[in-house]
Amino acid sequence: MANLFSGLEAFGLGKMSDLEVYAPDDKSSKKPGDGTEAEEKKVVEADLIFDKSYTCPVCDKEFKSKTVKTGKVKLISADTDLRPKYQLVDSLKYDAIVCPHCGYSALNRFFNYMTSAQAKLIKEQISSSFKGIRTDGEVFSYDDAIARHKLALVNTIVKKSKLSERAYTCLKTAWLLRGKAESLAAENGEANKDTITQLQKEELEFLTNAYEGFLEAFSKEMFPMCGMDENTMTYLVADLARRVGKYEESSRWISKVLIARDANERIKTKARELKELLKPNL
Ligand SMILES: [Zn+2]
Repeated sequence: MANLFSGLEAFGLGKMSDLEVYAPDDKSSKKPGDGTEAEEKKVVEADLIFDKSYTCPVCDKEFKSKTVKTGKVKLISADTDLRPKYQLVDSLKYDAIVCPHCGYSALNRFFNYMTSAQAKLIKEQISSSFKGIRTDGEVFSYDDAIARHKLALVNTIVKKSKLSERAYTCLKTAWLLRGKAESLAAENGEANKDTITQLQKEELEFLTNAYEGFLEAFSKEMFPMCGMDENTMTYLVADLARRVGKYEESSRWISKVLIARDANERIKTKARELKELLKPNL
């Protein structure tokens, strides 16, 4: 838990590094393009990114944030915990929107939801010490993306967001840590061995937090949750349980999907595949 927020010092928020995600409320890549010319034109990550305009719901200032052009990137596969993998670019890197003026940040899908009480909390606890964020560079590195997601996670805690938003932000951060580890493994797995092990450890911490948050959200929130219906979320919790080593729990969540009358065949198939994966651990 201690290193969950490492890297926030750069934003002036180092003192928040001992926050707890669910603490009880106190009162306070490259691929050939489809070039028809004789010469092949390479599509690179920067070609798939554009600057999208946002108005910050906390400070009301306008800013631009790098966004992936929709329709330009193809989904190639997904991990068992529903992490999508795209051709040419890891779109997940661009999901956390950060206001460079006040430090407010959130995953794209949650960015515009803001009450005045929440804005006040963010101004008091984030903006007051926020030192800014660099906005140069054509694309985000994994380290840029991970730091931005951690900042978004701090914001969820400060604004007392729903548990599901915190859990989802943890999950997305875990996916980025996995993405970074995979890219290092592809570059040179042997030379990067120690870093990869460290990233896997950190990923497990974020997955554990995601699992615990979704588990509690299940009993306190309504569906759809983070854009997922109940059966999809049940499946996701089953896989998170498996990934964090809670095999009996995982098995129970898988059964819930398999006996759910309203679960579609697609999610039941995935649940059956998960059951196979889980078998050696039971
Ligand atoms: Zn702002």
